[in-house]
Amino acid sequence: MRQLIDTLAKERQLSREQYRELLQTRDACVYAYAEEKARETARARFGNKIFIRGLIEFSNICKNDCYYCGLRRSNTACNRYRLTEEEILDCCKQGYALGFRTFVLQGGEDGGYSDDRICLLVSKIKKSYPDCAVTLSIGERSREVYQRFYDAGADRYLLRHETADEEHYAKLHPAELNLAERKRCLYDLKEIGFQVGSGFLVGSPYQTIEHLCSDLLFLQTLRPQMIGIGPFIPHEDTPFKSFPAGDINLTLYLVSLLRLAHPDALIPATTAVGSLVENGREQAILHGANVVMPNLSPSKNRGDYSLYNNKLSDGAEAAESRAILEARLSAIGYCTVTDRGDYKVY
Ligand code: SAM
Repeated sequence: MRQLIDTLAKERQLSREQYRELLQTRDACVYAYAEEKARETARARFGNKIFIRGLIEFSNICKNDCYYCGLRRSNTACNRYRLTEEEILDCCKQGYALGFRTFVLQGGEDGGYSDDRICLLVSKIKKSYPDCAVTLSIGERSREVYQRFYDAGADRYLLRHETADEEHYAKLHPAELNLAERKRCLYDLKEIGFQVGSGFLVGSPYQTIEHLCSDLLFLQTLRPQMIGIGPFIPHEDTPFKSFPAGDINLTLYLVSLLRLAHPDALIPATTAVGSLVENGREQAILHGANVVMPNLSPSKNRGDYSLYNNKLSDGAEAAESRAILEARLSAIGYCTVTDRGDYKVY
């Protein structure tokens, strides 16, 4: 098994059979070996530097109905909000002062924010902060619209594929959403020139090891610049409320395998990892992650961006508490940097 991990570190890819073998084991020594190799790999490239992104969750209104997500349109218990342009620009202003040089605008697929409005917003942010990167994470659009976002100045786009198995995709989403379209979006984004982020849920309902192998193989083909994975965490007002959360150790092991397969990638220690266990963020970094995305949204709205129960948005997760984040990272030998943190090949 160690040999397989060495092969992954060297070749940056494995076959389905090899991934299957690595995922079937629950041997703590194998997990520990992957962690050690992944940490070394990240250290060799990024040193002890962790890139930070200011996350602005600007709308929780969504036309989609994904079965796992608390923002799904059928959730009538969700207190909906949409930030104004002024509020978003204010978040950027605060974020810039705190040392953020990437702003991530994430939201549901909210028709109230038309494509024109998004373009205008992006160009305003880029004009005010020309030294900053703007990342969009607002779901599926046509290629033409993605091109317009890019021309307006957006640098990066996050769109998780969620699961790379078609049948599994259909168990997590209503019929109007499909994997082929999700993939089409990802390839279009990449061709247009965005730095692209993808990723998947770990431990989502009905997930099998074969599905996870498909996820790892899909990422091997897509080769995105950013890879975000996190455990599925149930939300009480969704059809998946009774399913268990994803396993933290499996999630961390997958972070390590992804780091080995994608040594230069930007891999965040996601909020879901931090929400599931106390020191999840630090653990993810020790397993090879190199990005954290603290929350820059106005505090009055944070509780309403409820993707899953007990989602963190305070303490080290809050952008204004950068000092807390810094102290927690320093305790494990890392520090943040004031840098756009673009993808580069080392
Ligand atoms: N609407 C955009 C999209 O579809 O990419 C961005 C927002 S979406 C809410 C952001 C991510 O939240 C999704 O890609 C999904 O993986 C994650 N998410 C949603 N519900 C979740 C849950 N119950 N547990 C963990 N992650 C969840």
